[in-house]
This record gives sequence, C-alpha cells and structure tokens, in this order.
Amino acid sequence: MKVKLGSVGKLHRRPESEPFFRLAKTAKQAMLVLSSMQPDADRRRKSRSKPDRVFRQSLESKISHSIAIARLFTMLLPVVTCGLQVGSVSAHVNTRAAYVHSLGSATAALPEAPLEGLSCSLTLNLVDATTLEPMPGLVRITAADGSVQTPAGLLSRGTGLPPSHASRDWSVVLGSATLSLPRARLTIEALSGLETEMTRRTVDVREKSSMNITLPLVRFHRAAKNGWRCGNTHLHLRSLTREQADQYLSSVSRADGLELVFVSYLSRADDDRTYISNTYTAHQLQRLSGDGVLFDFGEEHRHNFGSYGEGYGHVMFLNIKELIRPVSIGPGITGTGRDWPPMRRGIDQARHAGATVIWCHNTFGLEEVPNWIGGVLHAHNIFDGGNHGSYEDTFYRFMDIGLRVPFSTGTDWFIYDFSRVYVKVEEPLGVSPWLDGLEKGRTFITNGPLLEFSLGEHHPGDVVQLAAPGQLDISAQGVGRCDFQALEVVYNGRVVQSAPSRPVGGHFEAEINTPLRISAPGWVALRVKSKGTNELGAPLFGHTSAIYVEIAGKSSFKPAVARELIADMNEAMHTIREKATFANDKQAEEILNLYREGIASLGKRLKKQ
Ligand SMILES: [Zn+2]
Repeated sequence: MKVKLGSVGKLHRRPESEPFFRLAKTAKQAMLVLSSMQPDADRRRKSRSKPDRVFRQSLESKISHSIAIARLFTMLLPVVTCGLQVGSVSAHVNTRAAYVHSLGSATAALPEAPLEGLSCSLTLNLVDATTLEPMPGLVRITAADGSVQTPAGLLSRGTGLPPSHASRDWSVVLGSATLSLPRARLTIEALSGLETEMTRRTVDVREKSSMNITLPLVRFHRAAKNGWRCGNTHLHLRSLTREQADQYLSSVSRADGLELVFVSYLSRADDDRTYISNTYTAHQLQRLSGDGVLFDFGEEHRHNFGSYGEGYGHVMFLNIKELIRPVSIGPGITGTGRDWPPMRRGIDQARHAGATVIWCHNTFGLEEVPNWIGGVLHAHNIFDGGNHGSYEDTFYRFMDIGLRVPFSTGTDWFIYDFSRVYVKVEEPLGVSPWLDGLEKGRTFITNGPLLEFSLGEHHPGDVVQLAAPGQLDISAQGVGRCDFQALEVVYNGRVVQSAPSRPVGGHFEAEINTPLRISAPGWVALRVKSKGTNELGAPLFGHTSAIYVEIAGKSSFKPAVARELIADMNEAMHTIREKATFANDKQAEEILNLYREGIASLGKRLKKQ
C-alpha cells in the first residue's frame, strides 16, 4: 500500500500523541505527572478488551506448565516464607479482562473486603528461577475485586503517561522492595523484560501484618547469548525533576531489560523548558550507565510547519559529540526564521561528524523520500510514538526499488511500550559496535516476540549473490511471552511461508524450516502477524531487517513503486510551495532541488528498465 502525500492520505501519519502533548503545556500535565509519581493506592480500572480465549488458553497451558514448575516450587519452598498461599502461575494472562475473569473463579467463596485501616508490610523479592539471583522487573498487584494496587514508594511503570495507559497498572521492582498493602487477598504478577514468563501468585494477607514473598521468574530466552543486544533509539522525558528523570531512566530500563538507551535532545520554542531530557550531557548519561544499561546521547533534528504538524520531517542523530545546529528548523517549531535550511544540510553535517542518522516516525515528513533515495539515511524508525503506519509505507517501498533499509525503533515520549531494536553485536556491547550493526541492518524490531532468521548461511543485513534463480533454506524462529499468533516469511512484500505459534510452558514458540525458491532479486524478511497486545497494552509487533538477494548482480526494482515515489516527491514540492516561507529564491531552490534530484535519479533508473 502506498501513502499519498496529500492531506487525506496523511491522516494516519501522526508522529506523537499530539493531544496529550498539547495538554502537557498546561497545569494538567504537571498534575498528570505528579499523580504518576504518587500513585493512588486503590485505583480501579475499566476492563481492557481481550478475548476469553486467552484465558482458556492460559488454563489449558497452566495444567502442563504447573507440572513443569512443581519441581521448581518444591526447590524454592524454603525461600517462600510464612503463611503464603501459593496460587497459580500463568504466563498468558496479560490483560485486565482475562485477569479479572480468572480472579472471579478463584476467589468466589471468600469474603473479600480488605480490613479497613490495616495494612500489611509485604517484602517482595524477584529472583531468576534458575540462579536465584535478584532480578529487576515489573509487578502488578490486584485485589480480588479487580482493583489494582499501586504501592507508594514504587516507581509507576506508567510515569508520564495518561491515567488510562495500561502501563500505569505496573510498578518497577529492582530485585526487592517492601510495600505497605491493604490486608486483602492479593494477586501479584511479575515479569522481567521480554525474556521471562509471567509469574503469578495469590497471597492472603488479611491476617498478616507482615509477609516475605519470593517470586521466581522463569527465563525462556536469552537473546544476548546469540549476540542480540537491544536498544531504544528515541526517548524524551518532560515535567520531571532531574532526580526523578535519573530514577526513571535507570529503573525502567533495567526492569524492561533495555541495554542501550539514547536520550534525545529536542528543541521547541517555549515548550522545551519542561524537557528534562534536554538537560543531560553525554558525559552525565555515561555516568548514569551501569547495572547492564548504557545511556548515550541523541539529537532530534526536525522541521514542521506548525508547532507539531508535518513538515520536512524528523531524524535522530546518534553518536554525536556536540549538537548539530540548528537543532530544529522553521518558524512553526522555533518561533523564528524561515522554513530553511533543508534537513539534508544538518544530516550531511552529522554524517561528516560520524553520526548515525535514523529517520523517525515512519513516513512522517516530506524529506523522507528524497533522503532515502539520496542515500543519506542509515536506518528507519517505525512505531516510535504510536502504532500508526505500516511496514509497506515505511520500509517495503524503498526495498522494492533496491534500497537497503535497516529496521529500527524507539519510543519517543517516555518508554510507553517495550518497543526496541535488537542489533547483532559480535563484540562486547558498546555504542559504536551497536550502531555499526544497526547501519548494516543486522537488526530486528519488537515489543514482545524475539526472532531469529536466516536464509542458508545468511542473516538480516546480508546480501546474497546468486548467479541464477535458485533455492535457499529458511530457518526462522520466534519466541515470546505473549501470543504472537504467527510467524510470516515475506519475500518482496508477499507472504511466502507462515507458521502458527503454540504454547510451550508459559510462553509461545513458532518456527519455519523449509526451502524458499528464489526466482527474482529482492528481499526476504521475517515478521510476526498478531492481533494481540503486550502487558503494556500495545499491539504486538516484530519484524527483522531484510536479507537482500541479487541475481546476476541485479537487485529488485519495481517501476510502479518508483513512479509512486516520484509522484510523492512532486506532491511534496507542491506542498512546500504552498506552505513554506523563504527569505529569497535561493533558499526555495535549495529545498526544492532535493526533490528534483530524487525525481531525476528515479527517472534515470526507470529509463534503464
Ligand atoms: Zn522525538
């Protein structure tokens, strides 16, 4: 599917949750953030939709899973202290609806009102089920009536996010914490990053003034063992104190299992006074690094016509020593100047300084097409700021004209999702080797399922050279805590193989091992096809970068796609003539020439066909 650059076609190209950020300009933002830092004790939530099927699946798999973990519990019994009622462990119940449903049957016989005014001091320990080492993670504590308990003293996983966001149900526990909770029958769910199953335990503390409970987290995957290291390329924070921002960055990253986080500088007239993420220097971020997380610096270089609307676009500069100026372009966002220079100038400058340049927010922005055709971008972010847009718009159309487009992602404002990009790094994790792997397209993006993909001996980012059409063996695996439903192998935009997921213990797995007939040059990638969501309420996604195939030295080039891209650039020039203001013709020509060059370059390729 192609995206038109006209006003109608752009409706889905929203880069950020704009209404929320407009709100944030007012005192409401301050209250919202404040409430997330001081969570109310007894918040009740509306049901979040999830089919009962998930709950039934969880029951079915619980039966086999409980056999597997029975031995583990026997082993761990000494560390689970006094009066604990062991409930059930389930990895599949990850939404409120299924969860409340499950509580109903488990607790129907018990009077459930918490004892008024009394509290229990509950010490919670999260440990690796195999090594018994403490593990950072997330917990959700729910009373039998379905009300979510967000204990004071724990950082809300939903800090900075709207009150209705699913992540507000979860709190961060860095190994262990002592909490004051109402004396009630409580169900505690815990997980760590994307690689553990969910542990779920019900405890009755109605008669207890204190309790100590250890929750073993079962790890089903270790991506780092195969060299996959994950990072968030795009992150801003606002309306927090510096101390709160430090705590947020180090705690949430560790609980989520993020290994590399780029904190992004962003300039916007007036509004950026609340952008606490702008106050970090590269040196300070390096000092914040530790306990398995590296922090580094990024700059969002951008232009838009209004203060938020679409303009030339947004890119991220990573691995820079100092800011590339101007950081933002145009009167819409800076409150001054003209819609000049083009982003290409800043991109060239950043590349010269050794930066990795990532296009942000899917297709958002007019300079996306000429900059990909001009070969100045290193990677492409999708879903950094929401789940709008599609792989077709963002990646496939460029790969269909023979470009190599590494898949990348981040979260933009706050870490509202588990989204991240995994990069294959052979050496110890560092910013430079990670970015080197990203630029080479040795990546996959995900907010849940963890992927492995190869064609013969070749991996994502590789270029396979074939002398003639032939056959390559697909090896594809996916594993995830939430049901990702199916794996799909995509060849030049078409699904050529798929396999359903199946529950294994407390997680899901799928694999494809079959030959693939390569009849034309192009690209092959692995993705998941899911209608489900993860524990933070985000639709599940997962997609590897492509393996590119050349036959007799030829890469793919679809003339129809090239013509669509030319039409996009023509329309972009029309929009610029309509909306942009310039000091003189020379400025206008510099901007428009980028599009003319892109059109000429594709025109030349079309003529050769
Ligand atoms: Zn941003």
